[in-house]
Amino acid sequence: MTRRVSIFGATGSIGQNTIDLIARDPARFQVVALTGGQNIAQLAADARRLGAELAVTADPARLEDLRAALAGSGVEAAAGPAALVEAAARPADWIMSAIVGVAGLAPGLKALEQGTTLALANKESLVTAGPLLMATARQHDARILPVDSEHSAIFQALVGEDMAAVERIVITASGGAFRDWPLDRLAKASVAEASCHPNWDMGQRITIDSASMFNKALEVIETREYFGIAPDQIEVLIHPESLIHALVGFRDGALMAHVGPSDMRHAIGYALNWPERRDLPVERLDLARIGQLNFRAPDTARYPALDLAQQVMRIGGLSGAIFNGAKERALDAFIAGRLGFTDMTAVVAGVLDRLSAQSGLLDAEITLDNVARADHLARQDVDDQIAQNC
Ligand code: NDP
Ligand code: MG
Repeated sequence: MTRRVSIFGATGSIGQNTIDLIARDPARFQVVALTGGQNIAQLAADARRLGAELAVTADPARLEDLRAALAGSGVEAAAGPAALVEAAARPADWIMSAIVGVAGLAPGLKALEQGTTLALANKESLVTAGPLLMATARQHDARILPVDSEHSAIFQALVGEDMAAVERIVITASGGAFRDWPLDRLAKASVAEASCHPNWDMGQRITIDSASMFNKALEVIETREYFGIAPDQIEVLIHPESLIHALVGFRDGALMAHVGPSDMRHAIGYALNWPERRDLPVERLDLARIGQLNFRAPDTARYPALDLAQQVMRIGGLSGAIFNGAKERALDAFIAGRLGFTDMTAVVAGVLDRLSAQSGLLDAEITLDNVARADHLARQDVDDQIAQNC
């Protein structure tokens, strides 16, 4: 039977890997909506090639470009944040959430409201509004399947298991671009240096977040929100080869490790084919040739973002939205050359402290509006701090 699928963030790294899998099996899928941002040429080319019903750019100023690129194709064009949310309401059996940043939250929630299966790469949704996302899924009988490689690995290790038997969850981290740099060089690290990941080929923002370990901090919170496990049961382990993605530790002492190539098409394909397993075009690991796998504890002096994740989980409420908003803005400033690499964590920590003390903000109900407000205040606070230090 043909499955109706939509891909949000289709022009990005996860989106393109998803399209790669879908395009290999065109008879199995009917593409409903593809969305992108600035990369109109890619969006239009994929929409044409896959025979999508609709293509949406997040930027209203690019609507005419998109219309022109789609002329004569029969694919509808739309633009802007509201059009993204409308596209998420189009009936589909499976929707990929792979927009980068908190912008992915509103379309993801709308997708869940139609009771679909949401393949969730956009970890920011869980970090900023985990309880809202999970409750919306339950309320509409929708399913969220994790796509982040660590969370897909945990999900797979838990098949047939009872969460009550889980003692701990260990997520691995490659250590990013600077894992072997002397600490005193980090402050001067450039955008180009932070944008080279040792093992994974990903979008620029998540690659820099891997170097700073903000990505792992988000993933720790994502683990808590998705699997409902206590913060002190989540561990991070540096594993430079990126072949074990996560381990689940059970009460009887067993550790179930998920081993696979560093290729996001595995996690995407698992979510696409779930509950079946089908052939995927990924490397088959030759462990005899690989020879050894290495592990070490993360150094908190090198990766202070990990402590911030613990702080966010202790505070709860809207602190995840504040943390993520501050992180996104600090990352913008680093990419623009207005903030040093190590300053990002210091700035985010300052925002978290200041806004946590602001009366009523943290305890407000986690709604889309309140997440947007906390996100806005966090970004503004980052800008204020940078302006003060100039
Ligand atoms: P990319 O930067 O490669 O792609 C981001 C996508 O979002 C693009 O389609 C981009 O459009 C679109 N986009 C950018 N800004 C907006 C906006 N404001 N509104 C709507 N759409 C927007 O990111 P990745 O594919 O690397 O990551 C996507 C998500 O998946 C992130 O949440 C990331 O953390 C997560 N993830 C990614 C992994 C990876 O391997 N890349 C692994 C695990 C999780 P355009 O490019 O056309 O401007
Ligand atoms: Mg990951």
